[in-house]
Amino acid sequence: MVEKHSKFHGIAVSPGIAWGKACIMGSPPKITRRKIKVAQVTQELARLTQAIDSSREQIESLRDRIKSRLSAKEAAIFDAHLLFLKDPVFIAQIQKKLLEAQINIEAAVEEVIEESVAVFKSTQDSYLKERIQDVRDVGSRILGNLIGYSQKCLIGEEKHLIIVSPEITPSQAVGFNTTQIKGLITEKGGPTSHAAILARSLGIPLISGIPNLSRHIELSTPVFMNGYTGEVIINPSHRQIQKYRISAKAQAEKKRQEKKVIGLPSVTSDGWEIHLFANIRTEEDVELAQVFQAEGIGLYRTEIHFLDRNEYPDEDEQFQHYRTIVEKMAPFPVTIRTMDLGGDKFTSYYNNNHPLPERNPYLGLRAIRLSLKYPEIFKQQLRAILRASEFGNAKILLPMIASIEEIKQVKRLLLQSMNELSEQNIPFKQDFLLGAMIEIPSAALAAEAILKEVDFLSVGTNDLIQYTLAVDRGNAQVSQFYEALHPSILFLLKHIADAARRAGKEVSICGEMAGDIRYSKLLLGLGYTHLSMSSFFIPQVKKIIRSISMHEANALANRALSLNEVKKIKQLLEKDKVLNN
Ligand code: PEP
Ligand code: MG
Repeated sequence: MVEKHSKFHGIAVSPGIAWGKACIMGSPPKITRRKIKVAQVTQELARLTQAIDSSREQIESLRDRIKSRLSAKEAAIFDAHLLFLKDPVFIAQIQKKLLEAQINIEAAVEEVIEESVAVFKSTQDSYLKERIQDVRDVGSRILGNLIGYSQKCLIGEEKHLIIVSPEITPSQAVGFNTTQIKGLITEKGGPTSHAAILARSLGIPLISGIPNLSRHIELSTPVFMNGYTGEVIINPSHRQIQKYRISAKAQAEKKRQEKKVIGLPSVTSDGWEIHLFANIRTEEDVELAQVFQAEGIGLYRTEIHFLDRNEYPDEDEQFQHYRTIVEKMAPFPVTIRTMDLGGDKFTSYYNNNHPLPERNPYLGLRAIRLSLKYPEIFKQQLRAILRASEFGNAKILLPMIASIEEIKQVKRLLLQSMNELSEQNIPFKQDFLLGAMIEIPSAALAAEAILKEVDFLSVGTNDLIQYTLAVDRGNAQVSQFYEALHPSILFLLKHIADAARRAGKEVSICGEMAGDIRYSKLLLGLGYTHLSMSSFFIPQVKKIIRSISMHEANALANRALSLNEVKKIKQLLEKDKVLNN
C-alpha cells in the first residue's frame, strides 16, 4: 500500500480538478479452490444467499439508473440478469456442487459458471449462445459479492467518487452515474482513447497511464486529481487540500469567463467565420450542444446504441434515437456516423459472430469493414437514418474509409435501402448528404478521388495520427510517440484541406485536435473552418478564434509546414503565444 500523501503522475487526458474517495475497479482476484468441512456447508450456503441478494439489489439499482439515461430496451439486459439470479436450476447446480465436492462457495460458483458457459458454447442455438455474456456478468457479480471485491461505491450513497481502474471500456462507461463520479484514473489508455473521449463528453477529468495504481490504493482512500497537469495525490495533506481548493476556484472562474463568449459570433478578427459543431453520443449530449450554441452536430457516434447489450438494436429502435436527435437539433445538421464497432468497442454478439480473436483489432474488422461484412445489419442502420432524415437535417458519415470501393458499396446499399423504404411507403429525404471520415492515411492521400464520391469530408485526427504514426491510441506505453504535431500529420491535414477546397466541398475536423486550443490557430491556418468537438470545449476554442486573424493563422501554418521536426513545430507554437490570449 502507498504511504500517506503519495504523489503520482499520469497523462492528463480530460481536464478538470476533482477530489473524492477512491473506488477501485478491475478484474477480481483469482479464486482458490479449497475443501471445506461438512459443518461449514450451512454457513457457505448462507453466504451464497447473501451474495445473490446483494447482486439483485445492485442490478436493480443499475437497471433503474440506466433506464433513465438510455432506453428501456437497453435496460432490459438487467432484467435478463435478474432472471438468472432467480433461476432455480442455476442456484440448485451451485448448491449441488458445494455439497458433492465440499468446496468453498466461491469455487463452486466459478465452476458452475464455467460449466454453463461450456454448454452454451457447444449449442447451435444462437439464443443460448447470446446468453454467455449474461452468465459471465451475473457470475462475476456474485463472485465479487462473495469475496468482498465489489464496485459497491458505484451504487452507494457516496457523492464524490474517483474511479481507479486498469482501464475503462466504452461499455463500462455507459453505466457510470455522473452525479457520483467526479473523476477517473486509469492505468492504461492515452489522450484519444475512447475512454478519454467519453470522459470529456461527460465533462469529468481523466488521468491515464499510471501503471499498477489500483494495486497501491485502498477502497475509499481520499484522492485528489488534477486533470490539467496529470497529478494524482493519495491521502492529501491539509495544505494540499487548500492548494487544490484554490486551483478549483480558479478553474471555475476560467469557465465563467469562457461562458461569456457563448452568445458571441465565432469569427476571426479579420472577419472569417469559423463553424463550431458538437460531438455527441446520446440524446442527453444534445442539450449540452444547445447550451454551448453549437451550429449542429459534427459527429454523432452511434456505437453507444450497440454497446452493453445482447443483440443489435433493430431498425425501429435506432430510428427512435436518431429521430429524437435530428428533431431536437433541427434545422441544424446532425452528422450521423454509422457504427464504428470493433477496435476497442466490442459487443458480446459481435464476438459471437467472430469467434476468431483478432490480434490487431484496430487493424481488423472495424467500422465500415464490419458493416459491409454484414450488409443486412448495416442496412437496418441506413434505413433508420434515412427515416430520421425526414424530421430535420441528417447527414450520413462513414467511418474508417480506406478506398473509394467501400463508398461505392455503401452507395449500393443505400440505394437498396431507399428502394425498400419507397416500396413500403415509408417517407425519407432523398437529398441527404453523404460524407467520408478521413482517418486512414490511404484515404488522406486519396482525398481528391474520395471527394468525387462524397459530399463532404470529416477528418478523424484521433485515428489518422494512430494509423499514420503506427501508435496505438489507447496504449499509455507509447503515448509519447502519439504526436499530433508530427510533420507528416500537418502534411496530410493540409493535403486534405486543399483537396476539399479545390473540389468546393466542405471539410471538417472531428477528432480531439479540433477542441484542443493548442492547435486552433494552426488548424485555421491549414484551411479548416469547420471544427467539431465535445461541447465543453466550444467556448475556449471560440475565445481563441475571436482573438486571432486568419492572416496570422495562415502565416503560422506555412511556417509549421516548412519545419521537419516536432520539437521545432512545438517551439513555433509556443513562441506564437496563442495560449496567452
Ligand atoms: C477520430 O478517429 O478522430 C474520430 C473522431 O473517431 P473515433 O475517435 O470515434 O475513432
Ligand atoms: Mg476514428
